[in-house]
Amino acid sequence: MSQKPVYLWINNGRVEIRDASHLWGQETGPAQETILKEIGKAIVLGIGPAGENMVSYASVLSELHFAAGRAGMGAVMGSKNLKAIAVKGSSRVAVANREKLIALTRQINKEIKDNTSCGTLTLYGTWNNLTPLQRMGILPTKNFQAGVIEGGERLESEAMVKAILTDRQTCPNCPIFCRRIVKMEKPYELSGIYGGPQYETVAALGSLLLNTDPAVIAKAHELCNRYGLDTMSTGECIAWAMECWERGIDLGRPLPWGDAETILTLIEEIAYHRGVGAILADGVTKAAEKVGQGSEAWALQVKGLEMAMHDPRGKKGMALAYATANRGACHLQTIHEDAMKAGGPYPELGLDTAMSRKQLEGKAYLVKITQDYFGTLGDTLGICKFPMNAWRPYTPTCVAQAVAMVTGWGITLKELLTAGERIFNLCRMFNVREGIRRADDIAPARVGEPLPEGASAGETVSTDDLAKLLDEYYELRGWGKNGVPAPETLVRLGLK
Ligand code: SF4
Repeated sequence: MSQKPVYLWINNGRVEIRDASHLWGQETGPAQETILKEIGKAIVLGIGPAGENMVSYASVLSELHFAAGRAGMGAVMGSKNLKAIAVKGSSRVAVANREKLIALTRQINKEIKDNTSCGTLTLYGTWNNLTPLQRMGILPTKNFQAGVIEGGERLESEAMVKAILTDRQTCPNCPIFCRRIVKMEKPYELSGIYGGPQYETVAALGSLLLNTDPAVIAKAHELCNRYGLDTMSTGECIAWAMECWERGIDLGRPLPWGDAETILTLIEEIAYHRGVGAILADGVTKAAEKVGQGSEAWALQVKGLEMAMHDPRGKKGMALAYATANRGACHLQTIHEDAMKAGGPYPELGLDTAMSRKQLEGKAYLVKITQDYFGTLGDTLGICKFPMNAWRPYTPTCVAQAVAMVTGWGITLKELLTAGERIFNLCRMFNVREGIRRADDIAPARVGEPLPEGASAGETVSTDDLAKLLDEYYELRGWGKNGVPAPETLVRLGLK
């Protein structure tokens, strides 16, 4: 840890630690602007006041609108007095078989342009989830008390485009252009430099809080990026507080559902540990511990990570995915079973038959294999999960081919999957060392309550349902009944 605020400047392999005292306390935007004035063109990853104040779900912002949002990496940087990391490099990435890689890239890019699912992503970004989830009756609403929101037509994919989208941007060399840009003058001034909200943010700061105003969502998103806060955990913490108010627990002032002023003020208070924000800044688990009075029942989290915006009652594999993801209730470690249409999304992974989102059968295998592939390999190789998601052109076979072309290793998909499994188990062993066991592989209590209306009305995931899924999953993984990888599993994976 540094004694005083610093930022790290990595310039073509030369590393410098620079004073950041003048940046401490600044929001992410002004801090980035000052750094770029000092060093010239570079990519800057930085934290805002939330990271400095060690809010447990502080994010790290890259270029102000790519967020490493989940699990508090911004607080880790803040704890070390590290305000930012600026990077510039002009070397080429070494590639073993450049010609073949370029040919594969061209083929995938062409397929992306012809792919309907990718086309929807271009049009709507991940807002493409809004309309289907509302129709399936699992759009997170009022802290997951419901799955359908009244007035939800304002949050439908097309309505969101009309209401707030001003531009689409893309990542280097990606033909998809899924990134949202929102500029606005009224009712809020938004410059667009902080991007625009994607699906998780629209749900977390919108329907979850009974807020159907796209402009308020866009403003709340901008505030989270300015202060450096994870939008999902922020929304979940505010939803918990609003439910406290609904149920007669006074946290210091009225916190009515859907109230724009309350939402926007709470975001600032969280970043600065002020007012009600001081209760919420350590996350929903600690907030419920402090406040008690039964509020643990509506603190939606697993292993301390606030639940993402996908309701396991209407896609039951998500209950197991949340329970077993190494960092808690994360939605990015598995594919979601609404992708399990006829024909199967990944025949190469043994997922070659249709599967209903409401069934339990087959879900343990779905979660296990896609954790190894989609979650772990995707993260380890640094591949965007959108083109490698189900029914999109960057298939498991293509991923294996690309790795072989880049590295020059004669690696097969089977070997890559074993590598994914090895990494997943290594992360689990880290957690086991820290005391994690079966008792921590839970689903939030709320998913045991039936959804009240809509196309998933009456659906639940009971404790027995989860226990059954866990038994099957542990067996597939080669773990003991207590959730600890068996010695022979570790030996098989080369982790003796
Ligand atoms: S790389 Fe991924 S996030 Fe970036 S524009 Fe393409 S699909 Fe979207």
